[in-house]
Amino acid sequence: MGEPRARGRFGEYGGRYAPESLVEACREVAEAFREAWADPGFRGALARLLAVHAGRPTPLTPAGRLSEALGVRLYLKREDLTHTGSHKINNVLGQALLAARMGRRRLIAETGAGQHGVATATAAALLGLEATVFMGERDIERQALNVFRMRMLGAEVVPVTTGSRTLKDATSEAMRHWVGATGDSHYCIGSVVGPDPYPWMVRELQRVIGDEARGQCAAELRTGVPDYVVACVGGGSNAAGTFAGFADTPARLVGVEAEGGAGAARGRLGVLHGCRSLFLQDDDGQITQPHSIAAGLDYPGVGPEHAHLRDLGRARYVTVTDDEAVGAAVRLARTEGIVPALESAHALAWVIRAAGDGDLPAGSTVLMTLSGRGDKDVSTLKELL
Ligand SMILES: *Cc1c(COP(=O)(O)O)cnc(C)c1O
Repeated sequence: MGEPRARGRFGEYGGRYAPESLVEACREVAEAFREAWADPGFRGALARLLAVHAGRPTPLTPAGRLSEALGVRLYLKREDLTHTGSHKINNVLGQALLAARMGRRRLIAETGAGQHGVATATAAALLGLEATVFMGERDIERQALNVFRMRMLGAEVVPVTTGSRTLKDATSEAMRHWVGATGDSHYCIGSVVGPDPYPWMVRELQRVIGDEARGQCAAELRTGVPDYVVACVGGGSNAAGTFAGFADTPARLVGVEAEGGAGAARGRLGVLHGCRSLFLQDDDGQITQPHSIAAGLDYPGVGPEHAHLRDLGRARYVTVTDDEAVGAAVRLARTEGIVPALESAHALAWVIRAAGDGDLPAGSTVLMTLSGRGDKDVSTLKELL
């Protein structure tokens, strides 16, 4: 999993399908990131921020009681313990440092449930940048707490009233806004989606999850490497970062999507938000509205690298239902004392199902990325339980 081949391609996926002015802006971001990523000074500054501000390294937690019940050995990579409560902060701190290095004074971001928006507002405050966050009007109504957090952190939250007034529309609007602001603003995308270099750059910024976990598994497991590496997939950034740490090992990689947002498992080739990848579409090729109880999995497609890994057979993509995810969240709470984000609960739901039906052989070692904590989901869960 290196840098994509010419023009940001992962096999037949990826690319830079954007208006000319954005193609130029993306080229500048690619150039600046390549240079920064090769600069030990930049790497050191980011590593320090991740340590002193975000709380890295995150622990690897053996899920003892649950493992015993399932007959497998499950280890959790605890991204829920980072500052702001999800892996999104890893990417955002990197892009905010890059923006400052490029002389940009403002971050533009899209957000669905608000996790990426909160992380962006946090990084902007930390580095003295401005933040403008585009958010669908419907999501603003549903996620009042995160809207308040962003405003408290000093960000401007712009309601998006077009289309379905959710994440897809917020992303389109953020890109449109960037066209007129490329001179002083950096567009901080929240997942491994969008035009080149974002899928590659965000994967590199998230690989800290996989690299840390690899070292922790080497110390913790007799075999050094887990048999299975599992993560939930919305756009696919926590999975891509996790998988990157195990690409050169025999570990089997499993991406778990929401039944109603299964871009990798059920999407078809298309172009959206500047990128060629797999998207949920109707017979006319119109992008359809995804549905998941986990707002972070409510994206109609998947990042181009996942589409490619699927084609290669290097990773496998499976789906779980809302009910399975809720059940898994409750089970983790009651066996391990951890309330996971509903997104992360999807990954766990697959582990539970696969351990039950033999898809995961008894005694397997499983590394699962717990992408975030469940505080943001308590009002959703309260209605159901
Ligand atoms: C945003 C989010 C996701 C989904 O995004 P990916 O890019 O697929 O990682 C998963 N879990 C949590 C907690 C999130 O906030």
